Amino acid sequence: MSARVLVVDDVEVNVRLLDAKLSSEYFTVITASGGREALELARNEHPDIILLDVMMPEMDGFDVCRRLKSDPSTADIPVVMVTALSEVSDRVRGLQAGADDFLTKPVNDVALFARVRSLVRLKRMTEEWRLREEVYGRFDNVIAEPRRAEDLTAARVVLWEESGFAAERVSEMLQAVAAAVLRPTAPEQLPDMADGSVDLVILSLAGQQDALRLVAQLRANEASRLVPILLVADGDELPRLAKGLDLGANDYIVRPLDKNELTARARTQIRRKRLQDRLQDNYQRSLALALTDSLTGLYNRRYLMAHLDGLMRRAADGAQGPAVLMLDIDYFKRVNDEHGHTAGDAVLREVAGRIARHVRGFDLVARYGGEEFVVVMPETQLAVAAMVAERLRSVVAAKPVALGEGMGELNLTISVGLAVTREGGDSAAGVLQRADKALYDAKARGRNCVSGSVAEILPVSQAS
Ligand code: GH3
Ligand code: MG
Ligand code: MG
Repeated sequence: MSARVLVVDDVEVNVRLLDAKLSSEYFTVITASGGREALELARNEHPDIILLDVMMPEMDGFDVCRRLKSDPSTADIPVVMVTALSEVSDRVRGLQAGADDFLTKPVNDVALFARVRSLVRLKRMTEEWRLREEVYGRFDNVIAEPRRAEDLTAARVVLWEESGFAAERVSEMLQAVAAAVLRPTAPEQLPDMADGSVDLVILSLAGQQDALRLVAQLRANEASRLVPILLVADGDELPRLAKGLDLGANDYIVRPLDKNELTARARTQIRRKRLQDRLQDNYQRSLALALTDSLTGLYNRRYLMAHLDGLMRRAADGAQGPAVLMLDIDYFKRVNDEHGHTAGDAVLREVAGRIARHVRGFDLVARYGGEEFVVVMPETQLAVAAMVAERLRSVVAAKPVALGEGMGELNLTISVGLAVTREGGDSAAGVLQRADKALYDAKARGRNCVSGSVAEILPVSQAS
């Protein structure tokens, strides 16, 4: 999807120039010639980024920026101030107004595309994050509250700068954002040093080493693949900068370094890195959440059904089908009633653990419901399944179960229902239902035993 850029300038030639440059790189461009029009377009068209002229009659760029940033519907849209004056005071005013970046007229292509791409990426990441926050908001007692993305202090920065003096200056300038600035002493150390715990790599193009090769190495190395890279160059090095950006660097800054600019650029990259980390964490957590039971760590019912379905389909192609055990703790309600819910939970974890440790690696153990567990054994015949069922029954009954810290222990038993796949067509629901029925029989027979109907070994046609 191509990014949509809103270009705002009161001088039409400027608008057309930026429009032409951006369109040639396949950005979609919308334009406004004044502040009010810009605010309206920002609200209605939701551009991915806004390039905002500073000097405009009626309402200047700082004012427009402030309004954009104070309106929740436009606050996430990155704003790049485009200024004719490269005055430091303008940059400070822009930052105070909430601008994300600056471009100086005449705008050079390398700067334009580097900044637009980097900020659009940040915006996409922010959107993705907001979406997940909404979706997973319901589980917020399970998903740890993410550290705020805006908390941009205490960053870990790796700096490649051969000159000790220049490195000192950069470190000083970064004090507001960086807790630590690490400096590799040899280029070989860089890729490993810039691992996932690092928020930003700043790479100076000056010096004996070929810094562009370092960019390529950072991108090729698994640990440093996603770490943001900010290049530092002299003003006459634009072609090398362009190459560096092509190789995967995220942004650049030109000497002489301005503290505000360096801080702003570092912040943008660090913010993106933090969002990226959190998205990844959350993705892994949500995967675990979706497929496993948080109390016991066993697979949950949803996963069990998908897994069993797959095995049954394979069986339909002529392979031996799975056997299913349904296990239920006897008189479990009493554990809760007499010892409390916490003791009940401890018992569930202990019983789950015993079951999981006494089946084969390729057998699947799931928590089916409150105190019911299911074991699925692929390609397993009745005799083997019955042996496993008896083994599980006896490992629970053999030893008392601990009720948790200082709560003593308790003798417990389980009942087990067994079912195997029927020849000539069977389903996951069918086999589970028969295991459940068998479990019911085991309970009726007095509990602490295994049941499985004789019909299980007969083909469908003969079992009524
Ligand atoms: P039976 O021998 O017939 O199986 O009797 P039972 O008491 O084990 O069976 P019943 O189904 O009546 O009770 C199951 C209890 O399990 C009821 C419920 O409070 C409890 N339970 C379900 N989920 C959990 C849980 O996550 N933690 C705890 N502590 N208890 C749970
Ligand atoms: Mg029970
Ligand atoms: Mg039950």
